[in-house]
Amino acid sequence: MATEGKPTVVVTSPFFPHPSSVIESKFRVLKLWEADDKQAFLKQNADTIRGLVGIVVSAEVIDTLPNLEIVSCFSVGIDKVDLVKCRERGIVVTNTPDVVTDETADTALALVLAAMRRICPADRYIREGLWPLKGNFPLAHKVSGKRFGIVGLGRIGSAIAKRAEGFGCSISYYARSKKSEYEYQFYDSVLELAKDSDILVLACALTKETTHIVNRDVLNALGPDGTLVNIARGAIVDEPELVKALVEGRLGAAGLDVFENEPHVPKELLSMDNVVVQSHSGTATWETRRAMADLVVRNLEAHFSGKPPLTRVT
Ligand code: NAP
Repeated sequence: MATEGKPTVVVTSPFFPHPSSVIESKFRVLKLWEADDKQAFLKQNADTIRGLVGIVVSAEVIDTLPNLEIVSCFSVGIDKVDLVKCRERGIVVTNTPDVVTDETADTALALVLAAMRRICPADRYIREGLWPLKGNFPLAHKVSGKRFGIVGLGRIGSAIAKRAEGFGCSISYYARSKKSEYEYQFYDSVLELAKDSDILVLACALTKETTHIVNRDVLNALGPDGTLVNIARGAIVDEPELVKALVEGRLGAAGLDVFENEPHVPKELLSMDNVVVQSHSGTATWETRRAMADLVVRNLEAHFSGKPPLTRVT
């Protein structure tokens, strides 16, 4: 495919479900994930690279690319992009809001149901041939009508609330400020929210302030009948404390899409029937990843044709 005149964009991982010709028809694409020595590859191509598609974008990478103009982030969360460095260099950063909202909210509800109704161990029980031998799988816990606490009532948090309302749950939330557009109960402390919730779902951005906002006290407040679901970012929870709370029976159940040190998951969690885990796959469907890829490409196209990007962060 002809590449003359097309802006060069380096893509860090094979994010796109599109046939590569769609992207390559618009840009000269460099596939970083195929390089054995990624830093050397970036250095070799540094002069030509004007755009970068990725999720993790460090200061070191930015420093290697003197002509970088835009980081088109393949996620709504931009906690792993060095925004300070991007601002210093005048690099445009875009993300993928809205197109991920429904999928991630669906994932949160799926994790609530899977964790509380023990869907995964009940499935394993039958596959292992235990039903005829040991009888019915043990009783689980009801979701409908429970008290739903949401940390971060943004796009995804409010979509989760809407879904939970469909289950007849009462909704409360914690955020930095009360949202006048919602009638849900507002708490100005995660601890107080946890005390009054059966299910606590994390849907806030990861920032310095939200790092380990779910600590030992919050887990204890949620308690042995409580369920924690995290579809936001792993580091919002103090993970060693989460493991201890589950091991010691101080927390009832957990549904976890994200972890502090991905792709590593604490091994203690993997033997617990009251824990369901996913590989950071909140948006991992063909439909949503296509929509994200389209938005990533449209942001790049807008930038390189001198127009404002659609979803600019900085
Ligand atoms: P959003 O609309 O910007 O909402 C983020 C929420 O975080 C806001 O409501 C904000 O509330 C809250 N927040 C920020 N700082 C806070 C603080 N210090 N204390 C309490 N709340 C705080 O973003 P979104 O589209 O809903 O996405 C939310 C997050 O979900 C993303 O940042 C991303 O990390 C995660 N996510 C994960 C997946 C996945 O695959 N698992 C997929 C998509 C998104 P206030 O401003 O009102 O305080």
